[in-house]
Amino acid sequence: MTVTPTATPTSSAARFDGLRRLVGNTPLLAIDYTFDGEPRRLFAKSENLNMTGSIKDRMALYILRRAYERGTIEPGALIIEATSGNTGISFAAIGRALGHPVSIFMPDWMSPERVNLIKGFGAAVHAVAEDDGGFLGSIDQAEELARTTPGAFLPRQFANEDNCEAHERMTGPEIWWQFEAHGLRPDAIVAGVGTGGTIMGAGTFLREKRPEIRVHPLEPSNSPTMSTGHQVGHHRIQGISDEFVPPIVDLDALDEIVAVDDGDSIRMAQRLASNLGLGVGISSGANFLGAVQIQAELGADATVVTVFADSNKKYLSTDLLREEPPQPDHQSPRVELLGFTAFNRECRTCFEPWELTPLLERPTAPA
Ligand code: PMP
Repeated sequence: MTVTPTATPTSSAARFDGLRRLVGNTPLLAIDYTFDGEPRRLFAKSENLNMTGSIKDRMALYILRRAYERGTIEPGALIIEATSGNTGISFAAIGRALGHPVSIFMPDWMSPERVNLIKGFGAAVHAVAEDDGGFLGSIDQAEELARTTPGAFLPRQFANEDNCEAHERMTGPEIWWQFEAHGLRPDAIVAGVGTGGTIMGAGTFLREKRPEIRVHPLEPSNSPTMSTGHQVGHHRIQGISDEFVPPIVDLDALDEIVAVDDGDSIRMAQRLASNLGLGVGISSGANFLGAVQIQAELGADATVVTVFADSNKKYLSTDLLREEPPQPDHQSPRVELLGFTAFNRECRTCFEPWELTPLLERPTAPA
């Protein structure tokens, strides 16, 4: 094959076109396991295979794309966001790819891998201590910087409906079409809530297609923010259950909240890696156990889908890579992982993640 050099893609449209090929259309895994010795199968989207290694790439790319369409972001504008990590990595990488400087506010207890990755993408990181407000303080400080920076763009992931729409137009349809290609229908979806974008958006699409589907948000049992309405206790499932119920989460539109212990999630994620070679993060272990729980309720033949939101690489310095003591109430010992098959990305040709509405004709900032 000969490759003809083309002009460097400097227009916004060309850059978005390149980026959207690196984000979404992830393979769907069918994971075979036994629960108390009974054979079962669960489904999970490999979101660790997105451009920067997490599901947040979908939201970051979609929010920026929409902002370009609407003209609410200027080329070269500073992007400012508060995040517990993955969102910062996504906005840092995708922001830079589009020629934007990026400033990220995050609690100072997030893993050093997260902080270093964001810095590596050339973004500024502001670590906010618990005494300075932790997560909620990060949001306040991001808003304050935006007020004093002319032209700054704040994605506001916790309150931005485009976050849900990203999953309504990408994650949900991908699951539907990947199931459809194999003659299947999803009976339930389970996903841990950080912003809630994944469960709200994918849930909305899947419910339109199949009104009886069950749509379950998930939270750590050690820190049940959604069940109580505020932060209670601490947990180790980075990326979910921050310190409040996000405004884009409508619990009335969802089925009951699934609760999973953080140590159990760590042990499950460890086994997905060591037994199956699936190197996923702690929230993926939680999501898998949540899906196991819902399948136990619905019956062994129920088709339950979840997401593996990120990879294990950002947790090398955390408890994910340490011995985690078993507890009597842990569910993971009842699970024996047998193997998996991956449904391909056949979806690539069956839908467009969004209609490519023309971007406003403007010059792009120098990279
Ligand atoms: N898992 C991880 C590792 C995450 O970073 C996030 C996003 N914060 C989630 C799960 C939850 O995704 P969402 O924000 O769409 O609820």
